[in-house]
Amino acid sequence: MTISNSSQELVRKRAEYRCEYCRYPEFLSTSPLTIDHINPQSLGGSDDTDNLALACRRCNEGGLVWFSRLWTEPT
Ligand SMILES: [Zn+2]
Repeated sequence: MTISNSSQELVRKRAEYRCEYCRYPEFLSTSPLTIDHINPQSLGGSDDTDNLALACRRCNEGGLVWFSRLWTEPT
């Protein structure tokens, strides 16, 4: 993953240092939250901050991508 530090920091601040899927706060987590691609790079997803979400390990590995897509649908 080649996301710039500034992009990662922007995403982390936007998410208020919580997992953007389950809202789990990083300070309660045993491992740091990671930056997840909402639209996977393998499907042409970009490194744009609009396509990045802060995710706890459980959500990042849990295949909750479909859920994030619901969240990011324009209303
Ligand atoms: Zn989570």
